[in-house]
Amino acid sequence: MLDSKESTNKDGLLVYFNPTFDEELNDSGNGFKAVVSRSLIRRVMFACHGHPLSGHAGISKTIHRTKQIYYWPKMSRHIRVYVRSCQHCQQYKPNQSKKRAAPNVPYNMTYPWETICIDLCGPKPNAKGNLKWILVIIDQCTKYVDLFPLAVASAKKIVEKINEVSCRFGHPSKIISDNRSQFVSMMYKEFCVKRNVTMAHTSMYTPHSNPTERVNRDIKTMLAIYTDVHSHWPKYLNEFAFASRTQISEALGHTPMILNTGREALLAFDPRILYHGISLDKNKPEEYVKELLDVLKRAHQNMYHRMQKNYEKHEKVHNDCDWGGLRSPYLGE
Ligand SMILES: [Zn+2]
Repeated sequence: MLDSKESTNKDGLLVYFNPTFDEELNDSGNGFKAVVSRSLIRRVMFACHGHPLSGHAGISKTIHRTKQIYYWPKMSRHIRVYVRSCQHCQQYKPNQSKKRAAPNVPYNMTYPWETICIDLCGPKPNAKGNLKWILVIIDQCTKYVDLFPLAVASAKKIVEKINEVSCRFGHPSKIISDNRSQFVSMMYKEFCVKRNVTMAHTSMYTPHSNPTERVNRDIKTMLAIYTDVHSHWPKYLNEFAFASRTQISEALGHTPMILNTGREALLAFDPRILYHGISLDKNKPEEYVKELLDVLKRAHQNMYHRMQKNYEKHEKVHNDCDWGGLRSPYLGE
């Protein structure tokens, strides 16, 4: 017997109206989630947690991901138990039940891709193509991640990849890195001067002020979980980047993907088959643009609101600790 929220869509799929965002309250169809039968619940939880595209994320991210697509009664409780009992997470994230460090709080409000943070992860065991390093580039504002496997972690290669990202998303005003030799080299400095980029280096005492540090830790965990043969570590780098971009950031209230594109990326295991996002009516293309901009505007307003709240909370903690107010974590500022 169907209750008032249940119905079958045109493909005969049983769906349940369970919107997770205001945007899903409209007639886009996004509020309807595929109802999962009891026998398939564990497979769905594996897809939304243990699949490389999901990257063994924590409880709240896994719940968010699952609720975007699926519905079954008491799903949050089931997912909590599933993630807590995941053997891989227990083995590689032994402290997950402890409260993690506070999320990085930007010291100044930024707009997307104004400030990027870069870091090197490695050296890793030699992989095919002599790959040994992962260059992590992340937008400080939206937490959108790019991962590049490198054979040589030279300043030349790093500059090439920064250029690639800048040409895709726009040129940053500032790049934050640690002060290892590549990031203080002549070639790197010349690139920054030519592109009008301010260099900021984190002091070795405040590595937490570089958001890539947390991404690096997550990437290391994902690599450890999925790489049976260590030389195969580059195999899932794209999937790890996808997992990171499409998981909700608790600090921002949205996924990096929606903050950059105004839409959520379709997951490979979305049973709805058809994307229920904003659809383009060829007779009214301006409506599509308007809706897309509305989604982006609301997401950004929400993000800035949360960032401000976070900032104020941390400022209070700093002041209460009698640290004499906020200090810049960056050298040379
Ligand atoms: Zn897990």
